[in-house]
Amino acid sequence: MLKEIEEYARDNKVPIMLPDGIDYLCNYIKEHNIKRILEIGSAIGYSAIRMALVSDDIMITTIEKDVDRYNIAVNNINNFNLSNRINIILGDAIDTTIDGEYDMLFIDASKGHNIDFFKKYSANLNKYGIIITDNLFFHGLVQNEELIKTKNQRGLVKKIKDFISFLDNNSEFDTEYISVGDGISISKRK
Ligand code: SAH
Ligand code: MG
Repeated sequence: MLKEIEEYARDNKVPIMLPDGIDYLCNYIKEHNIKRILEIGSAIGYSAIRMALVSDDIMITTIEKDVDRYNIAVNNINNFNLSNRINIILGDAIDTTIDGEYDMLFIDASKGHNIDFFKKYSANLNKYGIIITDNLFFHGLVQNEELIKTKNQRGLVKKIKDFISFLDNNSEFDTEYISVGDGISISKRK
């Protein structure tokens, strides 16, 4: 069933996490005993399902703004019988209100809003909560700007660079960068 979701994503250009990125994330969740996860950007539910399958006491809240992807995600989550542990919310994470405390915030939505999501949802982290953000490489465009072809790409690269300097200069969180998948950051409270 996971294979089917991966194939659907590939055929329909849904940018789910890359294989080594999601494997790394799942290992991290296991090793650090993470139980409550807030995800921004569910797409079709792939990463939420993978994370939920790490252990049967993991609870996930995930937000998706695209109604078509949301509907597919709901269906996928039901097929895995995970609707009791994955709470998917249809809405724009910019103005969604989430109650409760989480061990981990996973940001994997629109690259231009990473700073907003980081600031807004760090309020939902418990004392030792961490923030993981995906797509810091943007297919290598952040490191190799000569690969940039469009104005849109240039804008997003700038946004990602702004996010990286926001992380590097953050007084509350220390961040490490991991070269897996499309590049992820792990931010921990100092
Ligand atoms: N985490 C998923 C992939 C997410 S792709 C996985 O690995 O399986 C990014 C998703 O974020 C897209 O489906 C997009 O619609 C959604 N998104 C982008 N901006 C958003 C926002 N402001 N609020 C909620 N979802 C958003
Ligand atoms: Mg991603």
